[in-house]
Amino acid sequence: MYTNTIGALRASTRRFSTSRVSASSGLQINSERLWNTLHQTCEWGATHRYGENPTETGMARLTLNDDDARVRQWFAGEVQKLGCSLSIDQMGNMFAKQAGRLGSPAPMIAMGSHLDTQPRGGRYDGILGVMAALEVLRTMKENGFQTNFDVGVVNWTNEEGARFPKSMCSSGVWAGAIPIQKAWDLRDIHDSSVTLRSELERHGYLGDIACSSDPATGYPLGAHFELHIEQGPILPENNRSIGVVRGAQGYRWLTMTVHGKDAHTGTTPFSARQDPLLASSRMIAASHDIAKKHDALASTGIIKVPSNASTNTVSSQVTFTLDIRHPQDSVVYAVQDECLKAFEAIASQDGKGVSFDWTLDTDSPAVKFDDDCVASIQAAADKLVGREQSMLMTSGAGHDTVYTSQHCPSAMIFVPCRDGVSHHPTEYCSPQDCALGTQALLEAVVHYDQSRAEKEK
Ligand SMILES: [Zn+2]
Repeated sequence: MYTNTIGALRASTRRFSTSRVSASSGLQINSERLWNTLHQTCEWGATHRYGENPTETGMARLTLNDDDARVRQWFAGEVQKLGCSLSIDQMGNMFAKQAGRLGSPAPMIAMGSHLDTQPRGGRYDGILGVMAALEVLRTMKENGFQTNFDVGVVNWTNEEGARFPKSMCSSGVWAGAIPIQKAWDLRDIHDSSVTLRSELERHGYLGDIACSSDPATGYPLGAHFELHIEQGPILPENNRSIGVVRGAQGYRWLTMTVHGKDAHTGTTPFSARQDPLLASSRMIAASHDIAKKHDALASTGIIKVPSNASTNTVSSQVTFTLDIRHPQDSVVYAVQDECLKAFEAIASQDGKGVSFDWTLDTDSPAVKFDDDCVASIQAAADKLVGREQSMLMTSGAGHDTVYTSQHCPSAMIFVPCRDGVSHHPTEYCSPQDCALGTQALLEAVVHYDQSRAEKEK
């Protein structure tokens, strides 16, 4: 049954591989092998069936569960078959390295992403990035192609933060942004007796090298490229097939607490009320308008009233979250300032007014990726699809590359996914787009490797 599906897909992937890609590396990835490998490995963790086709399921491969351990084991075997050396650090990050022609001691050019998923995740988020990287190495190997510098693949542990609640967890530790003890101590959200460290130990993934970019103790990288599905609608809406990702937007998370006074809804006229829920709803609506004006995003994901609230009582207090995002930090600040001003005005608008205070929960500045990495990806995109089929983008979500970019030149490639849907079982990236992204990854890495060699000459 499985092979039938692959057979049906074959026609389209073949058509793609012969007509659209003319590669400057002279190499051609095997789109059919990529597709088959990706879906075969998704048997570890497949669930949430939504269609008849064998590949029409979602995934629940949570970090360091038994399925994650199986796919890791498989990955280790595959890279070793290719002659790669495999290193595992103390967060279970897996680094596979293919030796370069020059025998240079410089850190490898890495292609990385993650094999873990959300509990109701899909088959492409993260997984595509690792499978594409593996396909690039396979293609190089079978063609006897050697890069100048070492190249390799990284499987970052617990990117999703779904089972152990900290996203981009182990690239964060690697980058020095998250203390390792804090990461090790993360508890399974359903079973507090299990920690991330105890699961690393159980599966044999508590490696002996430091989780660090420090060349003396850890595993430094010379560059980091990540292919990822876009997880949004911008590429398809603009009819583009490759996103050249030059950074990630900044964001600030605030919690607003609005104080009012409980009152009987039948006996208290509007003029006598201090209604925090009414004020909060006006504030949320205002934040939307302000963000829109700045071409930014503002969102409220959580709103809370006291648990003893009732239908016929004006609430005493409301807390709500505010998540503000934009590629430029100055705009994030401007939106925040305008929101706070607007909230002041709103607070005195109705009845006897309300008061509010706020806390800053997260401040994540905008990230700008490396110009040379971006240029290599742009060169690859120009070769493969032309300027009119690619676009410069800013990532709306966090990725491991955001952390690697703090310590090595980094950038990302986006490919479209159906309807922009992600973190959902029906997440889908076509065989053509998977292959195109993988070919772009290969070209970008080869381009970067050649530029690096020329620079060092
Ligand atoms: Zn991801």
